[in-house]
Amino acid sequence: MFTLPPLPYEPDALQPVVSAETLGFHHGKHHKAYVDTLNKLLADEGATPVSLEAVIKSAPAGKLFNNAAQAWNHGFFWCSMTDEAVEPKGELKAAVDAYGGLDKLRDAFIETGVGQFGSGWVWLVWEKDRLDIISTHDAETPVTRTGITPLLVCDVWEHAYYLDHQNDRKGFLTAWFDRLADWDFAAEQLAAAKGQGEGYRYPKPA
Ligand code: FE
Repeated sequence: MFTLPPLPYEPDALQPVVSAETLGFHHGKHHKAYVDTLNKLLADEGATPVSLEAVIKSAPAGKLFNNAAQAWNHGFFWCSMTDEAVEPKGELKAAVDAYGGLDKLRDAFIETGVGQFGSGWVWLVWEKDRLDIISTHDAETPVTRTGITPLLVCDVWEHAYYLDHQNDRKGFLTAWFDRLADWDFAAEQLAAAKGQGEGYRYPKPA
């Protein structure tokens, strides 16, 4: 049985970029539904997986993969946001500078998110010793890709922003990048990619 992880902040902490109403629905309805469906599918199969990552890597395309990957992606998304303004520091700052600076990274992140056709996710990832921005469609996730470590993600499904920003995905992504992105969480994932410490797992170990 996988559980719905609690939000790492109060429901109104991310306002006005993400309202308490959006966060409440997104976490308490959307994410919960993925977790509940995942658990039901696993119970029907009599499966007792060792980890959610293992389910995602072994599931064929279809309902089990979609619900497992969406459960993971949302858990990672909650951790990618913070109400405390932070900036890239240390090795992450050096990687951002090597990319061409935070403004260039910001432009690429927003452009990639806007350009993701339909539903999906925009990710800051670490691949081949450098930062990159990628998008994935629907439930697709970097968990299935070897050699890629996700550092941050923003949900660009309409349910993530429509109540607060209507169809202005670019406005949502811009405000998200400038005000909510948790660079300390990204730095932890980068350190793990380099063999220092543990990267994100679902659920986060106590
Ligand atoms: Fe979502």
